Amino acid sequence: MKTGLKSQQKVKNSKDFSVIKAEKGAGLGLKTKVPFKKGDFIIEYIGIRKENKDIEYHTGKYLFEVNSKYTIDGSPRWNLARYINHSCKPNSEVEISRDGKIKIEAIKNIKEGEEITYDYGKEYFDEFIKPIGCKCSKCIMKKSK
Ligand SMILES: [Zn+2]
Repeated sequence: MKTGLKSQQKVKNSKDFSVIKAEKGAGLGLKTKVPFKKGDFIIEYIGIRKENKDIEYHTGKYLFEVNSKYTIDGSPRWNLARYINHSCKPNSEVEISRDGKIKIEAIKNIKEGEEITYDYGKEYFDEFIKPIGCKCSKCIMKKSK
C-alpha cells in the first residue's frame, strides 16, 4: 500500500484548490480553481477529533471547537482548509453541522482563482490577529488610504 493514500482520501476535491502565497502580507492562502455560487459548500475543515477536556486552549491556532464536547485539531497538512485566511470582508463562512462537521460555505459568488477567506471570529482575532495587525485586503486598503 502506498503511503499517503489515506490522507489523500480524506481530502475531497483537493484538486480543486491550490495553496498559494497570500497576496498581501505573509503566509499562505487557499485559492480555488473552480467557481462557487453563494450558498455552495466549498470545503470541510478536517482534522483529528479531540475531546474538549483533553485540550489545553491557547496552544494551537488550528483548534476548532465544534460543540461543548469536541474540538477538531486541524493542524495536519492534509487539512487544506487550514490554509484559508481570515478576512474582515470574507467570501465564505463556517457552518457547523449537527454531526459536528465544520463546513466552509460561500456567502457570495466566488470566481475561479479567487482566494477563499472567512471571518475567524472575535476571539481568534483578538488573540492572534490584533497584536500583529490584520492583513486582509479590506484592512490593507483602509491603511493605504
Ligand atoms: Zn481585516
